[in-house]
Amino acid sequence: MSDPRPMASVSLDVDNLWSYMKTHGDAGWERRPSYYDVFFPAALETLAALRLSITFFVVGIDAADPANHAALRSAVAAGHEVGNHSHEHEPWLHRYSPEQLRREIETAEASILAACGQRTIGFRGPGYSWSPQLFEILVDRGYLYDASTLPTYLGPLARAYYFWTAKLTPAERAERGALFGTARDGLRPVRPYRWQLPSGRQLLEIPVTTIPVVKTPFHLSYLLYLSRFSEAAMVAYLRTAILACRATGTEPSFLLHPLDLLGGDQAPALKFFPGMDLSGARKARVFARVIGILGEHFQLVPMSTHARAILARPSALAVRAPVPTTAAVAG
Ligand SMILES: [Zn+2]
Repeated sequence: MSDPRPMASVSLDVDNLWSYMKTHGDAGWERRPSYYDVFFPAALETLAALRLSITFFVVGIDAADPANHAALRSAVAAGHEVGNHSHEHEPWLHRYSPEQLRREIETAEASILAACGQRTIGFRGPGYSWSPQLFEILVDRGYLYDASTLPTYLGPLARAYYFWTAKLTPAERAERGALFGTARDGLRPVRPYRWQLPSGRQLLEIPVTTIPVVKTPFHLSYLLYLSRFSEAAMVAYLRTAILACRATGTEPSFLLHPLDLLGGDQAPALKFFPGMDLSGARKARVFARVIGILGEHFQLVPMSTHARAILARPSALAVRAPVPTTAAVAG
């Protein structure tokens, strides 16, 4: 008998230690310090205990490093899938030329395939960056879906906080001018839809789900932040999000990051990030509670399973033209 619950997909952007340091403007990121060997065993154990298979969006340059291969293979062997999270993890893909974009996608894809034997069919841009040219390349390469958009009005607030905490030159600030998007990103739909591309082709978009109508985020980093004040408040907020999703027929795409599961005890270099004073054990407990609540309402699946189910349904998806608001702002 098939599962009567609607679906929700669960994915994790494997932003590595160096990419946090690079985005933040910290010295030493060029040596590409990695926490794969700490993060993956902990994450896989937590996911196995919850019987959860998810999509890991992997950065190509990490997949190209043989030191990370065992960790990546262990994730695939445990039944998880991998997606493409760009090669260099620069959150300004909208500033790339078409040639740069093509190289970025292809190199990451080849490195991930060589590392763990799985070809990527889904993409998420670093820092929610994207462009119409990027989508054309994904279609050229047979991708099933894109997952780069975060429909929220809060992007500029997140960027202001980030600039406040980071040590950046004016040039670096300009590059990061559209980081986390603009307030206009809030106008984009929360439910999956199809991009109508300049070439006439289409691509499925599965946005990172925000609460329908108000469009505030409820990914795990945000829930963990709320749990610091009150776990009861976090649960109430999550239940409100779920209620709004159910009322609007929205199947969530639920986003995780390594720092949602890694404690400050496991990655001391990242203690400047919010929430890194919490232990790994406490984070795993909050995560289990959140997954338990989501699982009361939704069948939790990796992103490609969700994408195929959406595409197989007879009901027509909304279609939108990819107007690059981020590129317009960043120039
Ligand atoms: Zn990322």
